[in-house]
Amino acid sequence: LRLPEHHPRAAEGACDVFAYAIRHPDGLIVVDTGVGAGNEWIDELYRPSIVTIRAALNEAGLDERDVVAVINTHLHFDHCGQNAAFLGKPVYVQRAELDATADPAFTVSAWAIIPEPDLRAIDGDAIIAEGVRVVATPGHTPGHQSVVLEADDGTAIIVGQCCYTSEEFTNNNILAADMHDSTWIDPGKDSLRTLRDLTPRLAYFSHDATTYFTERTA
Ligand SMILES: [Zn+2]
Repeated sequence: LRLPEHHPRAAEGACDVFAYAIRHPDGLIVVDTGVGAGNEWIDELYRPSIVTIRAALNEAGLDERDVVAVINTHLHFDHCGQNAAFLGKPVYVQRAELDATADPAFTVSAWAIIPEPDLRAIDGDAIIAEGVRVVATPGHTPGHQSVVLEADDGTAIIVGQCCYTSEEFTNNNILAADMHDSTWIDPGKDSLRTLRDLTPRLAYFSHDATTYFTERTA
């Protein structure tokens, strides 16, 4: 995405948007689906160069037909833009995030609407599959959530946009400008602390390719 002037990170010029796929014994669980295509307002403002989620999965050696569930960290347009590629699969999202979409400026409504049969609305923390759970991490948006994976070799977290960079995660630091609005800075700090207290071995971010990494201690 090219970042427009009003964006809090405009000085950086552009940003990547990352989606993640969890290889689970039950099937693939996709976390976020990237930017969608064909929205005039987004095309004009952000000039996105779009990778289809199918192509992204294929590039990782994965097949979209193996996807069994989708988790949206939040419903900003660049995180749910290709949810429609997984029509008929359960989509896990916080109820507070669904409420936030009532404001038309929040996202691209057409991309954020989840068909009723697919919708799995969550209030707070929840187990999605064995070893996979979501943790409510409000701040960047009212219903932001992160994904915690318990693997044999330690805990990994898909942070999403609870903080923006790996460095912020390391330093336990978030920027007020990245929050939903100024009233969300304290909840945002609490959210980041919650994730750091899980002492993950790995953490991944929506807009930073750098993976947070700690050596295994045990
Ligand atoms: Zn966002």
